[in-house]
Order: sequence, then structure tokens, then C-alpha cells
Amino acid sequence: MSQETLDTAINLGYIVASVLFILGLKMLSSPKTARRGNFISAVGMLIAIVATLLTRGMTYQWIIVGLAIGAIIGAWAAYAVKMTAMPELVALFNGFGGLASLLVGFVEYYEHPARPLYTTVAVFFAVLIGSVTFMGSIVAYAKLAEKLPGRPLLFRGQRIVNGAILAAIIALGFVFCARPADSYEVMLVIVALSLLLGVLAVVPIGGADMPVVISLLNSYSGLAGAAAGFVILNNVLIVSGSLVGASGIILTSIMCRAMNRSLGNVLFSGFGAVGPASAAALTDGQGAMRETSLDDVATQLAYATQVVFVPGYGLATAQAQHVVRELANALEERGVTVKYAIHPVAGRMPGHMNVLLAEANVPYSQLYELEQINPDFPSTDVAVVIGANDVVNPDARDNPNSLIAGMPILEVDRAHSVVVLKRGAGRGFSGLENPLFFKPVTRMLYGDAKDSLTRLVAAVQQA
Ligand code: NAP
Repeated sequence: MSQETLDTAINLGYIVASVLFILGLKMLSSPKTARRGNFISAVGMLIAIVATLLTRGMTYQWIIVGLAIGAIIGAWAAYAVKMTAMPELVALFNGFGGLASLLVGFVEYYEHPARPLYTTVAVFFAVLIGSVTFMGSIVAYAKLAEKLPGRPLLFRGQRIVNGAILAAIIALGFVFCARPADSYEVMLVIVALSLLLGVLAVVPIGGADMPVVISLLNSYSGLAGAAAGFVILNNVLIVSGSLVGASGIILTSIMCRAMNRSLGNVLFSGFGAVGPASAAALTDGQGAMRETSLDDVATQLAYATQVVFVPGYGLATAQAQHVVRELANALEERGVTVKYAIHPVAGRMPGHMNVLLAEANVPYSQLYELEQINPDFPSTDVAVVIGANDVVNPDARDNPNSLIAGMPILEVDRAHSVVVLKRGAGRGFSGLENPLFFKPVTRMLYGDAKDSLTRLVAAVQQA
């Protein structure tokens, strides 16, 4: 095959891959099409890899070693990682994306220091964003995996220190871009400062905000990839990096909106550093939580007209997605209408509840988003809150002084009755007390969500 034909085939492959990435991303926006979207994007990636491997002058032995190691780790991670540890895994993957861009930028510079200005600028950005993404993601992973304290680690003058480091990196960037061939040491200092900035930018952010940070770092990893694409002049890397950068920032803004907070507030407010008021102080004047029995709940559910399940993080930790579907089936057999209320930030990652319920083959037609289901609660007989807390906290709506004031919530307290399945008096991720649990309309069914639901299935079948 002539060089020209080969180049045309490679570019055609890149165009097809880019189109598949865009289609795949579009399909990820709905639970109905998300799985197919994921598959289509993966096919696009395969085409992009094969097209790249056709490039002349490749040294295949290292590529094969890399492919083998990557495939083994990837397959192991996909099978072994628990659903609840998915955010940690995504954090690590973002970090590796950043590290790859850092290495591509650095190695390209090391091998050919004297390059046109635009390549040198691209090297600078690949190294800077790649390093920040790498270390920021490692810290985010460590916080989520509780290898570092989840609370914000704050010290005086932190923002000034971070600002000074960023200013120093930019100043060194000018020096580097002006005389790249003589700036090897400058490049090393840029790498070191950028790695440090990645750590210092994420440590002051609380564990509760890590999912937003991870989404933002995901966007950064895309930008670093696009910069690396400019360094090695690879079109598909530029396109895919830009897509990841743009979609990551859109997701970040959706998550911030769902919590009614700005990105600046997430990044700089140290949310969660000040412990909430003590439980005793908060429960004063709110009465007590009222416990109910399994049989009472089963009877209530069995004779209801409409039941709405409200899943939260506790459903994920209990892995109760299959058994909630069984309970829904048992109720539907008795003619009860069953719906699921999905809050955009329920759980610990965007779409967490959708993924879990899809795994249990819950029909998409039964999933209702916040704006769709809230008007339905006043005509709901029983709202069953399964390990959700912050996303049903009425303080967000009723108490302007609450830390989560203004965060849109699922208004379960407007249902005729509310049953909350949780293990005890544990707080939500925000650490706040939840007045819902003290309302006259609410009853608590204590225990692990999976255990309680399993026993409810049997009790409803016998009711
Ligand atoms: P949550 O507020 O974290 O509450 C989870 C509740 O589940 C806890 O109160 C806990 O109480 C209960 N629980 C834990 N394990 C359980 C088990 N095995 N069985 C039964 N109950 C169990 O959860 P959420 O309502 O889903 O809210 C998510 C939070 O994460 C929000 O604050 C949101 O802003 C934050 N967040 C999420 C995202 C995202 O992308 N999804 C992003 C950023 C922030 P017990 O200990 O008493 O059982």
C-alpha cells in the first residue's frame, strides 16, 4: 500500500472514530440508550487504535506489552471493583489519563527540544494540565477510599500559596516557550510545581464534593489529552480530548446545579470543614424518630394504590437493587402502581441510581426525574426512602440557613406516608441532620436495606 493510501485510510478511520464518539456521547444522555452508547464509543476507540497502529515506523513490541498490561488491569478492574467503589476507579482512570498526557508531552520535548512555538506551547499545557490532573486525581482517590481524611484539609493562606504556585508555573511557561532547547531544568521545575499544585488544589476540598471534583478532573484529563494530541499531531486525540473536556465540564455544571452550588463554592469553600451542629441540638424541638414494624410496612404497601421508591447511597452500599425490583414485582402483581424517583446526585456519582436500577432491569418507564415526580408525591400513598438522606432533606427547601439550602430535593414529605429504610441514626454525606425523619408522616424501618427489602417481599406476598 502506498504511503498516500495508508494516510487516507488512517484519516478515514479517525473520522469514523470521531463520529462514533459523538454518537456514543449523545446516547449516554439517556438511560435507555446509554449501554448502546457505551458500546458504540468503545467501537470508535477500537477503530482509532487500529488506525493509529497502521502508522508506519511503529515499534510494536512495546505497544503489545502496554496493551497486555492495560487490558489485564482494565478487565480485572471492571470485574472486581464494587459498584460503591466506582467513583474511586473513575478517579484513578482520570489520573492515568493525566499521567499519559504528561509523559507524552515530556518525552516528545526530551527527544526533540527545538520545536515550532505552537508545539512547545502544547507541550507546556500537556505537562501542566496532565500533572495537575494526575496528582489531583490521586488525592481524590485517596479521600474517597479513606486513605486520606475526607474532611477538607485547610491551612492559612492556602489560596495565596496556590495562586503563587500557578503564577510561578505560568512565568516559567513563558521562559520555557521562549527558549525550549535551553530549558530542560525549567521543564523539570514546571512538572514538580504542577504536581504540587494538583495536591494542594484538591486537599482543601471535602470528601462530600469529590464526585464533582472527579468530574472536573475528568474534563482536565480530556484537555490534557487534546494538548498531547497537538504535540504529536494526532487528530483523533485532539477530537476525543476536546469531547472529554467539554462533556466533563457540562457534567460538572449539572452536578453543581443539582446541589444549588457554584463551582467556585465547591472548589474554594472548604464545605464540610465545620462540623454540623450536634444531633442533640438539632433534634431538640423536632420530636423523636418513630420506628415501625416490618408487618405494618408490608400491609401499608400491599394495600396502596401508588408507591414511590426513592433510592439513595444506602441502596448502593446494601446492593439492594435486585431485591427492590422483586418487591416492585410483588406489588405490581397486586395492582399497585410503582414508580422510582431519581435525584441527579443521589449516591456518589452521576447516574449512580440509574446504573444500579438498570443492572436489575427496572423498566426505564418507571424511572422519574425530580421535576417529573415531585408533583406526584401528594397523590402517593407510600414513599419508600431506601438509604437516601440528603436528597430528601426538607431543610434544603424550608431552612434558608441550612448548608444545603436551595438544593433541589425529592419532596417525599408531601406523600401520604413515608417509610425510611436505614440502619440507624447515620447522617447523609453532607453530615446534616434530616428533619424528614422526625415528621409525623414518617416512620423508620431500621436495618440493612437489602435485609429489610428481602423480608418485605416475603411479607407482601403473604399479605
Ligand atoms: P446520603 O445523603 O449519603 O445518605 C445515605 C444514607 O444511607 C445514610 O443516611 C445511611 O444511614 C444510609 N445507609 C447507608 N448504608 C445503608 C445500608 N446498607 N442500608 C440502609 N441504609 C444505609 O445519600 P443520598 O441521599 O443518596 O445523597 C447523596 C449525597 O452525596 C448528597 O449529599 C450529594 O450532594 C452528595 N454528592 C453526590 C454526587 C453524585 O454524583 N451522586 C456528587 C456530589 C455529591 P445509616 O448509616 O443510618 O444507615
